[in-house]
This record gives sequence, C-alpha cells and structure tokens, in this order.
Amino acid sequence: MAPPRFLLVTFPGQGHINPSLQFAKRLVRVGAHVTFATAIRACPRMAESKSIPEGLSFASFSDGYDDGLDNWDEEYMDNFKQRGSETLSDLIASNLKSGRRFTGVLYTILLPWAAEVARSHGIPSTFVWIQPATVLDFYYYYFHGYGDLIRSTVDNPSVPIQLPGLPPLMACDIPSFFNSKNEYNFSLPLFQWHFKVLLEEAKPRILANSFDALEPDAIRAINEFEVIGIGPLIPSAFLDGQDPSDTSFGGDLFKSSSGYMEWLDTKPKASVIYLSFGSISVLSKPQKEEMARALVEAGRPFLWVIRESGKEGRDEDRLSFKEELEKIGMIVPWCSQVEVLSHPSVACFVTHCGWNSTLESLVCGVPMVAFPQWTDQQTNAKLVADVWRTGVRMTPNEQGLVESGEMRRCLELVMGDGKEGEEMRRNARKFRDLAREAVKEGGSSDKNLRSFVDEVREASELE
Ligand code: UDP
Repeated sequence: MAPPRFLLVTFPGQGHINPSLQFAKRLVRVGAHVTFATAIRACPRMAESKSIPEGLSFASFSDGYDDGLDNWDEEYMDNFKQRGSETLSDLIASNLKSGRRFTGVLYTILLPWAAEVARSHGIPSTFVWIQPATVLDFYYYYFHGYGDLIRSTVDNPSVPIQLPGLPPLMACDIPSFFNSKNEYNFSLPLFQWHFKVLLEEAKPRILANSFDALEPDAIRAINEFEVIGIGPLIPSAFLDGQDPSDTSFGGDLFKSSSGYMEWLDTKPKASVIYLSFGSISVLSKPQKEEMARALVEAGRPFLWVIRESGKEGRDEDRLSFKEELEKIGMIVPWCSQVEVLSHPSVACFVTHCGWNSTLESLVCGVPMVAFPQWTDQQTNAKLVADVWRTGVRMTPNEQGLVESGEMRRCLELVMGDGKEGEEMRRNARKFRDLAREAVKEGGSSDKNLRSFVDEVREASELE
C-alpha cells in the first residue's frame, strides 16, 4: 500500500512553522510522506536540521524577502498569495507529471488560497488551525450571525459577550484583529475566506493544534464543521518521547552557545523566572524598564529573552538596572524554549501567550504570568487565567504599561506559598498530564490523527 503524500503549506512566521513542522513529523511517523512548503528564508535552516526524518522534504519559494522581513502588511499578503499559489500549482502539476500525485493539501491560517489551488487540481485539502479552538469559534461567530454583537462588545469594555461553547469574554479577551483600529485587521477577510472555502466542502473539517480535554466545549461548539484535535504539536522528546532526537522545533536551529542551559543547571529546583515574548512582539523601552525593576526587586534568578530588534539594537545594554540584573539572572537573544521550559529549575513563564508558548508551558507543567500583546494572545491569556487556571494575567495601567509592582504581585502569586499559587501549580501539572495522555498511543489526538490519515488513504485508493 503506497503511503499517502501530503503537501503542507504554511506562512513563514516562527509561530506558524513550529507547529506545522511538528505536524509534518507526526504525519511521517504514522506512515505518510510530506512535502513542506513555505518561503525560502525559513526553509533552508529547517532542511539542514539533523532531526528531519526520511519521508519529509522541503519545497521553498521566494516571497520577495529571502533575507528577512520586518513587518507584514496587506501588500505582502497579496504578494505571498500570488507567489505561493503559483509555486503550489507548479509543484502539484510537476509531481503529477512524474507519476507522484499528492493525496492531499494541508494548509495553515492566512492561506485560504491554498485550498482553491488544491481544488483546481482536483486534490482534497484540509485546513490546519494553529490557534485554540476557542479562537476558531470566535472568528466563525463573527462572520456567522454575531458580528454586530462582537463589534458592540469591542466598543463597550465593561460588558462581557457570551457565545455558545465559549467562556464569557470581555473586550480585553477578544482577538486584537477585531479592533477597528488594529493595523492588522486587513487579515479579517482572509479568515472569512477560510470559512467560505471550508463550508463549500462536502464534509468540512479542521485539524486543530489543541486536544479534546483542553477545549472540550469549543471543539464541539459549531455544527457546520468538525474540529479534530491533533495537538499539542510539540517536539516529541518533550511530549511522548517517541523520537528522542526531536528536541527542538527546527532541530538544532536555535541552539545557542550562550550557556543558559548550564546556568539553569546551577539553580535550585523551581526557582527561575523565564521571560519571553515570542518571535514577533517587541516590548517598549519603558515596559522593559518596569520589568527589570520588578525582577531586581523580586531578587529571584531569571532567564530573559530579549530579541535584537532591528534598528533599536540591543536594548538590554541600555537598561537602567543592568548591573543588578546581571548579578541574579541572564539575558539572551534567543533560546531553545521547550528545552528551557522543561528544565526542572524553571518555576514560571512570563509570556505573551502566543499559542505555541502557551501549549509548550502547559506540556511542561509550568504556570504562567500572562502578558498578551496582540492577535489571539488576549483570548489565550483568558483561557490560562480563568478557564484552566494555570496562571495569572498582569493588568496594565491606563497607558498600557504593566508597572513593576503589578508584575511583582503576579510573580508572587504564581511562585509564592499561598493557596492560589498552589492551585495554579496543581492545575499546570494536571494539564501537563492530560496533554501527554492525548498524544500517546491510543490517546485522543493520536487516534484522531491516525483516523484522518487512514481516511485520506482509503479515499485516494478508491479514485
Ligand atoms: N521560541 C523559541 N525561543 C525563543 C522564543 C520563542 O524557541 O527565545 C519559539 C517558541 O518555543 C514558540 C515560537 O518560538 O514555539 C513562538 O511562537 P508563539 O506562538 O508562542 O509566538 P509568536 O512568535 O507567534 O508571537
């Protein structure tokens, strides 16, 4: 029986590539072949990685920014769509010519055109949702009957909105693209397009980077499509141990020589505060100053990722408390995050609540101090603080700044001996165990993934 062959296409951001690459590896592990397509600047580094299994290959294309891109806008998205569609179409056609037909196209968010390309070649496609099911439902509701209600909630911060299957959401919990002033709200029509192509399918279904026990209501909330939990998509070595060589997202891409793992080894169990805000968000200088003050006053060891942000240079060199900070902690430009989170010295994670960071923290059983910045992060922070209760959310002042006192209060809550801290740590352990349960053989996500692949295989054999 020939293995099913998937073409998986993803947006070239770190937060999109990481779960997609894990998904590809998991498909390969259950017997499929995968061609992973994204922009050139992300592909070569992945292809060099030692942890790329046989059965996974790469097809890169230029999005016009092979050396890097500071920000994406509407023009970039149009360009990506045009170049991406052409590449995908050529790839499908050339494979067909050489007798190797793709069994299915898989595509992640912001790329609804991939489904149309697949359809034009008569190949089935499946949407892979890399944010929580709660956020997927929220987008669906917005375009299907609840648009006015959602818009009025965004403008009226004191009244929560209650949508079927979702927790009550205040304006501050709603994904930022719904804010009419948000500079990225040009992406809303792309989500609408996603639902349009999806609902034209005979049997609409979405594979989601979530799992049944994490979002039981949200996964089942919408009747018009089936949401299939196949997550969490985290490197195997930290989750199910089936592939011990799979220790980081891009394999050995981001191994840093700055010695932070050795430094963590020298710290007591559950003593270190880990701070990182993902691959995109850049905190303002005043915000970093408040954080630095909070860390110095808390006096606990910390590992803080401050990425080098283009023009601004290395901000940490100009922080007012540099010497005091250096005495107790470490600042690095990047780290292998899942490795850090699974180190026994790490006690809590001050995070922007990107969905990958949130899942990684859950899988490692690390409680969170949430500081959401944009897109789905506000909703993810709501889930962390009020639904799973595995962390606390920091409250900014009227200028949007989280002051040092507020940060210290939250650190104390999560790390301290009080009842709330104990409860958060207990819940963090509970979700860690549930996540591992979901992906192990016979777990909900494992079964879901296998039956998806079997179904695709059977359908292709009937053709
Ligand atoms: N990441 C990492 N090292 C860092 C910061 C981030 O490996 O120093 C990884 C992190 O593990 C996660 C991804 O980058 O998988 C960030 O994705 P997320 O969805 O959390 O946030 P985004 O970057 O999309 O805002």
